[in-house]
Amino acid sequence: MDRRDFSKQSLLVGLGVLAGSAEGNRVKAANQRGNYYAEPSKNLPVRKFDVVVAGAGTAGVVAALAAARQGAKTILIEWKGYPGGTATEGGTALHSFYNLWKAFPGVKKRQVVKGIAQEIIDRLIKVGGTSGHAEMSMGFNYDSVCTAIDVEMYKLVTFEMLVEAGVNVCVNTIVAGAIMDGSRIRGVIAESRSGREAIYAKSFVDCTAYGDLAAFAGAKYTEPNDYAVCNSIGIGNVDVEKLHDYLKKHDALVQRAEGMRSGKDGQIVRLQGKTARLPDGFGREAGKIGMSMTTTTVHDNYFMFIKLNLKMSVSPTSRDAVAKAELELRKRQRKAVELFRKYVPGCEKAFIARTSPRLNIRRGRLIECDYDISHEDVIEGRHFDDDVFAYGFHDSAPRFQIKNGGTYGIPYKSLRVAGIENLLAAGMMITKDRRAHMSTRNTVCCMGQGQATGTAAALCAKNNCGTRELRYADLRESLEKNKVYFES
Ligand SMILES: Cc1cc2nc3c(=O)[nH]c(=O)nc-3n(C[C@H](O)[C@H](O)[C@H](O)COP(=O)(O)OP(=O)(O)OC[C@H]3O[C@@H](n4cnc5c(N)ncnc54)[C@H](O)[C@@H]3O)c2cc1C
Repeated sequence: MDRRDFSKQSLLVGLGVLAGSAEGNRVKAANQRGNYYAEPSKNLPVRKFDVVVAGAGTAGVVAALAAARQGAKTILIEWKGYPGGTATEGGTALHSFYNLWKAFPGVKKRQVVKGIAQEIIDRLIKVGGTSGHAEMSMGFNYDSVCTAIDVEMYKLVTFEMLVEAGVNVCVNTIVAGAIMDGSRIRGVIAESRSGREAIYAKSFVDCTAYGDLAAFAGAKYTEPNDYAVCNSIGIGNVDVEKLHDYLKKHDALVQRAEGMRSGKDGQIVRLQGKTARLPDGFGREAGKIGMSMTTTTVHDNYFMFIKLNLKMSVSPTSRDAVAKAELELRKRQRKAVELFRKYVPGCEKAFIARTSPRLNIRRGRLIECDYDISHEDVIEGRHFDDDVFAYGFHDSAPRFQIKNGGTYGIPYKSLRVAGIENLLAAGMMITKDRRAHMSTRNTVCCMGQGQATGTAAALCAKNNCGTRELRYADLRESLEKNKVYFES
């Protein structure tokens, strides 16, 4: 760099123009004060949008699609390199588009979640990326359908849909702060290799699973740490039919569904085995590593999800405790594959084909919203005068079922972050009640919440109003127009 270039660059840094670039992150060691480092302030470049969606996971993808399709200038910020979130990393199947009709003789089958969630399935069907809504042939007290996905196709298909809808998709970018104007969010601070920037908008949707944006904005939250964390793996070079026969032989098979697999219908796409019933070596060892024997697949020779669980003693927001857990889970993954190789016929040459980039949890932070859905609301099948969709699945069926195999309503008020004027929340961060959460956290419910919050955020931006001023009639009309199903 010659002298003229150097002085020009010094001037730009002085003016804060380069604050968003790598050079803007070079700071002086002299700013240390005892055990603290005083980070100097700097000017960040500002970009302006109508709607910011933080987190491109299960709920966030749908929220951003819904907002952009309402005509809102929408940005979706995701710290991993792809959309999809826990739906592509943690779970076994998308629970559930239907009511639990099979467990209730005489109750009619009805698809209760439609809209954008169903559109994603339609797109996946075209690329062979799903089992379709495969009816359970065994264990239907637990679920009536199994909608299994090819997780890699899910990431691609949703990415393409977002770009087609005109969403500004910012992957490999983290939401690192909230810019507040009283109880109103003015913008978020985002950070990527292109630098640190301020992204302004009128409305915001927090879909980060842990409620990062809500927490930055000062919302109240709790961290119950009442579930195991998990890093599930995909296992290749296996034989689905032979696993079925093995589980059956040991009277350990409790669930089965048949659907599309490797382009052929009527194939096994879901199996659940009770590890405790498996012969000593396998059953006991699987128990020690927190292995769950539920898997889905949409390919021959592949188990899409085998879960390894670990209960942490502290909340998974603790960086150092998470580092230990990540290592332990990876050891458990290796052990799991060794067990399959040793005990399950057809799996002698099995290998780990996929892991999650980081551990997953069912609840991290729970954000306080204007209304907290109770377990009674869920199992009594209550609907509200501000329902934004209907939902009919419970993770803990058959212990807990929704009355008469019906549905309950997700009310708009349960998605409004308490105390913040222009912030909505969608996904696993809502619902404090642990048993109610066993319903609302499921992927398809998160997707429904995504469509509701994205639509609402766009309407608020259009009408220049806060989330509490939005007319419910307008929200309902837009949701119905976009194929959301209602029962009330
Ligand atoms: C082990 C496990 C098994 C499960 N099994 C099932 C199942 O079989 N069926 C089912 O229906 N449900 C299942 N669930 C529940 C369900 O998968 C989750 O509740 C749901 O996917 C959560 O969706 P979400 O949108 O809230 O979060 P996510 O899908 O996790 O999305 C959050 C996104 O935000 C991003 N993000 C986070 N913080 C930031 C930040 N600061 N800046 C930018 N981006 C950020 C993340 O990278 C992620 O992509 C399971 C959950 C777990 C953990």
